[in-house]
Amino acid sequence: MPDTREAFDEFRREAALLHDLGKASALLGWDQDTYMPPGGAEGRGHVMATLSALHHERLTSPRMGELLAELEGSGLDPASPERAMVREARRAFDRATKLPRRLVEELARRSSSARQAWVRAREADDYALFEPELKAMLELKREEADAVGHGGRRYDALLDQYEPGTTAAELEALFAPLRTRQAELLAAIGASGVRPDATMLALDYPEAEQHAYASAVAARLGYDFERGRLDETIHPFAESMGLGDVRITTRYVRDDLANGLFSVLHEVGHALYEQGIDPAFARTPLAHGASLGLHESQSRLWENLVGRSLAFWEGAYPGLQAAFPAQLAGVPLERFHAAVNRVEPSLVRTEADEVSYNLHVLVRFELELALLEGDLDTRDLPGAWNERYREYLGVTPPSDLLGCLQDIHWSVGLIGYFPTYALGNLMSVQLYEAAQAALGDLDAQLRVGELAPLLGWLREHVHRHGSRYQPQELLERATGARLDAEPYLAYLSRKFGALYGLEP
Ligand code: ZN
Repeated sequence: MPDTREAFDEFRREAALLHDLGKASALLGWDQDTYMPPGGAEGRGHVMATLSALHHERLTSPRMGELLAELEGSGLDPASPERAMVREARRAFDRATKLPRRLVEELARRSSSARQAWVRAREADDYALFEPELKAMLELKREEADAVGHGGRRYDALLDQYEPGTTAAELEALFAPLRTRQAELLAAIGASGVRPDATMLALDYPEAEQHAYASAVAARLGYDFERGRLDETIHPFAESMGLGDVRITTRYVRDDLANGLFSVLHEVGHALYEQGIDPAFARTPLAHGASLGLHESQSRLWENLVGRSLAFWEGAYPGLQAAFPAQLAGVPLERFHAAVNRVEPSLVRTEADEVSYNLHVLVRFELELALLEGDLDTRDLPGAWNERYREYLGVTPPSDLLGCLQDIHWSVGLIGYFPTYALGNLMSVQLYEAAQAALGDLDAQLRVGELAPLLGWLREHVHRHGSRYQPQELLERATGARLDAEPYLAYLSRKFGALYGLEP
């Protein structure tokens, strides 16, 4: 097939160019959030807008459309990575070409004005300042969903951007047992009377010492500093500039050891995924994780299943005590472990423990779905929010600042994004248990700090594939099972039942 070869080579060159433009933006974005002086903001905005316009122009070029059509009609092996590259490029091409230019511009303008309104509303703790902007944003998101196309539910078209192939109906079925059983577990923990002491985490931990310790742990987990770096920012993130340069950021809070430490473990999880992608996929549409949910499964796996396990700290705790002798020398391992797993229903998602986290996500998923589908009026959002917090978590936000104004997502048009946090939790346990079945006594390995076999298994079954498979297909290939809430719920009952002395 000489023609196909030629078309594929041209496609690869175009895809590499698009990749490079995207990575230039990523590097500028990383810099903006770490080292850029405040005076750079305006100019940086222009440069990033220019790069993004160039990217859009090349992505939607008629030639790209011709190449995709030609390759789709060619004899490319349906199971090959080459065919998967075409599939991924098609997704991006369709999304970009189906949206009229007017809508793209309106969405950009609205994101900017709604975000500003959200900031003002937070400053004044007054939801009414944000409400009209949210209403207008939802209208644009409905238009976007209709332009992209869907089988009857607009939410599916928005969700597809973050979690390809997953639908609102699937999420509703998957999440239903989480709502009841995580709320029950949370209530049982509250009623147990057990209140772990966490004061040792709130002593004075100088930032430089936290950084030294966190960097050492990141390296021990397998994060490659030859192909990455760890810097400080306000909202921690991981960003790939290419397979050889995957950076992470964190923040250190002087009187909160857990904050910086677990955020590093979380971002390391994201970065290990990107660092583990097959080098043969470099500069192709497969050179990134398969979905936000799968990405989150990797961050949560290292943060929680490893990083909050007793086995891991049996090995690592003496080192932590040696790094912070004045704060931790007199604190036994079991007390430290109970403290980093303390369960406390809170108002704020980003501070949530494992037992309540998905409940925070469910509130947002249910409300954004109702808002988008017209079952909830934006004016009634604060009331609906507070009602669900009372019902699911047993707490009532005293203000909208601690209620429906706490997340930035909706103000910048991220609708369909929240569920990926919960999907990540579910998948993290399915993957961890599959690794355990393959590797034998994983706890014994964690106890002696032997983390390479676990990383090796994840590399082999998840990381190296990049976006070659759709997320649910990848999960099934790796675990032999479909996406399922049961393993996660059983894990929570086991772990927190033991910590809080609950009847099995
Ligand atoms: Zn994450």
